[in-house]
Amino acid sequence: MALFTRRSDPTPLSGVDVVLADLDGVVYAGAGALPHAVEALTRAKDGRRLAYITNNASRTDAAVAAHLTSLGLPTAADEVVTSPQAAMRLLATKVAPGATILVVGGEGLTREVEKAGYIVTRSAEDRPAAVVQGFAPDVGWLQLAEAAYALKTPEEDGGIPWIATNTDWTIPQSRGIAPGNGTLVSAVHTAVGRLATVAGKPETPIFDEAVSRFGAHRPLFIGDRLDTDILGAQRAGIDSALVLTGIDRPKQVLAAPPGSRPTYLLGDLRELHEPYPAVRVSGDTVTVGRARVRIDGGDVLIDSDGDRPIDLLRAGATAIWNTGRAIFGFRVPERLYADPFHRP
Ligand SMILES: [Mg+2]
Repeated sequence: MALFTRRSDPTPLSGVDVVLADLDGVVYAGAGALPHAVEALTRAKDGRRLAYITNNASRTDAAVAAHLTSLGLPTAADEVVTSPQAAMRLLATKVAPGATILVVGGEGLTREVEKAGYIVTRSAEDRPAAVVQGFAPDVGWLQLAEAAYALKTPEEDGGIPWIATNTDWTIPQSRGIAPGNGTLVSAVHTAVGRLATVAGKPETPIFDEAVSRFGAHRPLFIGDRLDTDILGAQRAGIDSALVLTGIDRPKQVLAAPPGSRPTYLLGDLRELHEPYPAVRVSGDTVTVGRARVRIDGGDVLIDSDGDRPIDLLRAGATAIWNTGRAIFGFRVPERLYADPFHRP
């Protein structure tokens, strides 16, 4: 018998009972799957549940599940948590079922409003009890104007509640970046001077819905955006992994504010199954695997590149984060934010 048993470091999945994954930039980019995503998520299902969280309000849970299934990830509709579902969770705390709701948005949203027992209207003339707003490509001025008419009275003066599924500023399309729901919510906000209550990431109702639906005790959320995915998971008290196959790149990671720092940094989803190396901090020096980064006054110094770019980034990020100082105050070597990771 060995005197010393050397246990390898746990993987990001150790002890996790439910894996919650964002979609765009994590599972797929546009219609196609990202490299390694399908294999790694399939393997993650072994011994735990796998489900998905999406801010996209234009598609139903069934449509998202069908897309995932077509990519090789067999998924049931109730394994997809959408921001319209989170919006219904919020709405139920404010308005009883049976009430008439003014809906700005598409089928992904109207379907959920009806499923929750409300009556859908498109007109402020119907004296709706609340406005629910989500993205759909055909939302235009007429719908935004109806929302503005319905929301003319401030909530504190007896006005009706206004719930937005999400406030993502942009929505990536195959031809480029287009205005997202946040931009459309902002148009109504500008007209009425009121703020919407938000259900999707980075707010917590969407995470609360997922945790309660799957009875999660130790969930792990995987996302590609610091300002929605990681910030939201942290607010909801859930461990998070940022995977570098989507929006945010090493530069953004190094600059991440305290509320948006993931528990794990992954180059791609294969690393879910690899031991996550201990992050060792000694004074101003941080070591991850064979990578070592040191802070010296205003300089971030690479003492050792190590053998994996992701370990260097993990070490550099921790070294900078631990100073409590803003990234702008540092001279950062380019190697630290070189971006050898997969970009969609
Ligand atoms: Mg995403």
